[in-house]
Amino acid sequence: MKITVVGTGYVGLVTGVCLSDLGHDVVCVDIDEKKIAALKQGTVPFYESGLQELLQRGIDEDRLRFTTSIAEGAQHAHVIFIAVGTPSDEDGSADLSAVLAVGDTLAPYLQKDKKTYIVIKSTVPVGTSELVAQAIREKAPQATFEMVSNPEFLREGAAVKDFMNPDRIVVGAESKEGHDILKALYIGLERAGRPIVYTNIKSAEIIKYAANAMLATRISFMNMLSELCEKEGGDINHIARGIGLDGRIGPRFLHAGVGYGGSCFPKDVKAVTRTLAAKDCAAELLLAVDSINKHQRKRFIERILSTIEVAHKRIAVWGLAFKPRTDDMREAPAVDVIKALKKAGAQIVAFDPVAQENAQAILPDVTFVRKAYDAVTDADALIIMTEWDEFRGIDLEKVYSVMKQPLIFDGRNVYELETMKRHNFRYISIGRPEVKP
Ligand code: NAD
Repeated sequence: MKITVVGTGYVGLVTGVCLSDLGHDVVCVDIDEKKIAALKQGTVPFYESGLQELLQRGIDEDRLRFTTSIAEGAQHAHVIFIAVGTPSDEDGSADLSAVLAVGDTLAPYLQKDKKTYIVIKSTVPVGTSELVAQAIREKAPQATFEMVSNPEFLREGAAVKDFMNPDRIVVGAESKEGHDILKALYIGLERAGRPIVYTNIKSAEIIKYAANAMLATRISFMNMLSELCEKEGGDINHIARGIGLDGRIGPRFLHAGVGYGGSCFPKDVKAVTRTLAAKDCAAELLLAVDSINKHQRKRFIERILSTIEVAHKRIAVWGLAFKPRTDDMREAPAVDVIKALKKAGAQIVAFDPVAQENAQAILPDVTFVRKAYDAVTDADALIIMTEWDEFRGIDLEKVYSVMKQPLIFDGRNVYELETMKRHNFRYISIGRPEVKP
C-alpha cells in the first residue's frame, strides 16, 4: 500500500520505517528541514536501537522517501498518518495546534473523487478526530475523506520491537472500510498473531490515554507505598513481589523509583485529567497520580540534601535520560534533581551512555564525561537517575576505590541491598532500608 506519515519524531519515523519494512511504499513528511535532510542521507536524528538498519534498507530498496512537502505527501497516498507532537499546553491540556495544522495544510490536496483516509496516530483527547474533520470540511468542502484513529503504544528504547510485535493494535473508525483499510495495512502483523481491537473513533482515542494513565497510576501507587516503607522499615521490592504474584495484579510496572518522566506519562496524565474535569467527570484519582509523582522527586532531592552538604562538593550523576535505551530528555527526573543540587552549590559531573548531547542543551553548567568511572572519580556522592544495564554490571570495587566518599543515592533501585553491604557503600535507595557500611 502507499502510505504517507506526517511527523518524523520518535513515533512518526518508527511508524514510517517499520511500515516500509512490512512492504509498504512510504513517504514521510516533516516541517523540520534539518531532520529531513539527515533522513535523506540515511541518518536517524535520535537514538533508537535497530531503527538505523531498517531506515537504510527502506531507502536502498526504494520503499521509503522523505520530504518537507505536504503536497508530495498528500499526492503519494490515500492513507495519511498524522504523527506530530501533542505536548502539554500551559493549563495541562493537550496542545493540538500541530495536529490541526497538518489537517489545515492537507485540506487543499484532498480530492473529490479519490477517498483519503486520515489516520491520527498522535495521542489526542477524545473528540479530536472530529475537530480535525470539521476543520478540513470548512477548508475543503468537496474533499472525500474519512477519519481513522490508530493510537501508538510503542516504548522509546524498544520502539522497533514494539511496533513489529505489538501487544495489540487499536483501530477506531466509523465505517467498515475504515477498519478494513488498516486491517490491510497491518495484515502481516495480524497473521503473525497480533490482535487488532476494532472500535469506534472515540473509544480508540480514550484507549490510548487509559493505557498511559493506568501505567502511571501503578507507578505512583508503588511510589506512595515506598514512602511508607522508608518510614516503617519495609522493602518496596518485597511488596512488589508479594502483590505481583497475585494473578489479578501481575508483576509488571510495580517498580518504585524517583518517579515517571518522559514525553508521554506526565503530559498524558495531565491531559486526561483536564478532559475528565472539562466533561464534569471525577478526576481526583489522576490528580493524585500526578501529585505523588512530583512528591517522589521532591522527596528524593530532600533526602540527598539532608544527608550530605553538597555545596562545593563533586557529585556524580549516572543516567540522564528519562529511562534507559533512549536519548530523550523530555521531563527527565534527572533535570530537576541536577538543578536542585546545582542551586545548593554542588559541582555536577554526569554520565549517560547516549543522552549527553541532548542533556547538554538543557543543563549548561554540568560537566559531562565519557565514562561512568570518570564521573565517580573523586566524587563525594553518586546519584543514579537512569537504570542503564551497564550500571548493573559495573565493577563496584573499582567504583568504591575511586570515590572520595562511598555514598550512593539510587533513584532506580539498581542494586541488591546485600551487594551494597558487601561492597561497604552507604546506599540510599527508594522504599528500602538504608545500607550503612
Ligand atoms: P516528536 O516531538 O518526537 O516528533 C514530532 C514531529 O512532528 C517533529 O519531527 C516535528 O518537526 C513534526 N511536526 C510538527 N508539526 C508538523 C507539521 N505541521 N507538519 C509536519 N511535521 C510536523 O513527537 P513523538 O514523541 O514522536 O510523539 C508524537 C505523538 O505520538 C505524540 O502525540 C505522542 O504523545 C505520541 N506518542 C509518543 C510516544 C513516544 O514514546 N514518544 C509513544 C506513543 C505515542
